[in-house]
Amino acid sequence: MNKGVEFVLNNCEKTLKLVSEVEEYKHLKHKVVREYYYLKSIKYTGNMYEHYLKYKNGNHKYAKAFEFLDNYGIISNEKMADYLKENYFNELNNFCTIDDFIIGNIYSNNEIASTFKCSNMGGMRRSIATNSLVLIAKHVNPLYDDQWTEDGVLNYTGMGTTGDQSISFGQNKTLATSKQNDIKVYLFESYKENEYYYCGEVELCGSIFTAKELDADGNLRNVLKFPLHRIDGSNKTIINIEDIENSEKEKAKVVRKLSQEEIKEKVKNIKSNVVTKEVKTVYRERNQFIAEYTKNRANGICDLCREPAPFLDKNGKPYLESHHVITLANGGPDVIYNTVAICPNCHRKIHVLNNREDTKKLEKILLKYLLADEDEASIIKYNELFKE
Ligand SMILES: [Zn+2]
Ligand SMILES: [Zn+2]
Repeated sequence: MNKGVEFVLNNCEKTLKLVSEVEEYKHLKHKVVREYYYLKSIKYTGNMYEHYLKYKNGNHKYAKAFEFLDNYGIISNEKMADYLKENYFNELNNFCTIDDFIIGNIYSNNEIASTFKCSNMGGMRRSIATNSLVLIAKHVNPLYDDQWTEDGVLNYTGMGTTGDQSISFGQNKTLATSKQNDIKVYLFESYKENEYYYCGEVELCGSIFTAKELDADGNLRNVLKFPLHRIDGSNKTIINIEDIENSEKEKAKVVRKLSQEEIKEKVKNIKSNVVTKEVKTVYRERNQFIAEYTKNRANGICDLCREPAPFLDKNGKPYLESHHVITLANGGPDVIYNTVAICPNCHRKIHVLNNREDTKKLEKILLKYLLADEDEASIIKYNELFKE
């Protein structure tokens, strides 16, 4: 980290501590917290300096309210730019610019707003300072979900949440004329609150067209679709599997609120277009000796519902699945005192409902197995694992 950035963050932490502890300043806390989170998104002293320039000479509506900081040896926003210039002069040229953004990396809303110098709200954000238009595609609402086609085209939906969208409205016009006006267009995709995958520069690659879609009030209207493709022609962004799962959950929440009639209407208009994504996932390998031992130990009976396995596998063995009582994802070990063999029905149920009762039952049966085996070493470790 740049020394200047480090200094600013420490300074802000001191302010935060002060306004949290001293009664008469407590009303300022939320302002400091907000500023602190913003500062944390700035990575270079040059950007920090630029950020503080706007406060210089008491040029801020809260300048007076924070004058007391001087008495505590804390540098106020108004003096920070000069302080950085004096003490971290050789770092002032350290800047994060648009060119430093790496395609495929995740950035916060603040990082986008401060680097592209655009608003931190809205799906289409115009920046005069960087002569650019930042587009955000959010994948959390299935009603307004822009997806890539197999040919690498994203039909981006225009601005306007109710009624017909107009080509002359707001940034729709900016995007429509971006090529003629030499405005650079950048795209971010988001699957999760405050996480934006940078997709790089994009451009219009076909004619703008209209489509019929529901608006925020549930009325059918005309929306604009801007076909975009990535300028670098690079591959798809690799998305964390957790982010895709999160976005599917968010979309399912919206769908669940619709009536079956509304859903049926949507289903009718779905083109059989399977959207593929390249994902990054952490795979936790399971030891096959442990899995087999656990299944043999269950002897064809589900460790949870105590019913026989529902069918035999191709080798004629009762079909059960190995499950970790404390899951590997939650840091559970892959050992015989943490694995049970359960029927596929119970297995789904556990992962969907995650009932405390079921877990308790499985913990009990584990202990029963260990006691029957007189496996002292495993019992000690079992007790450590499930102690509370
Ligand atoms: Zn079962
Ligand atoms: Zn499982």
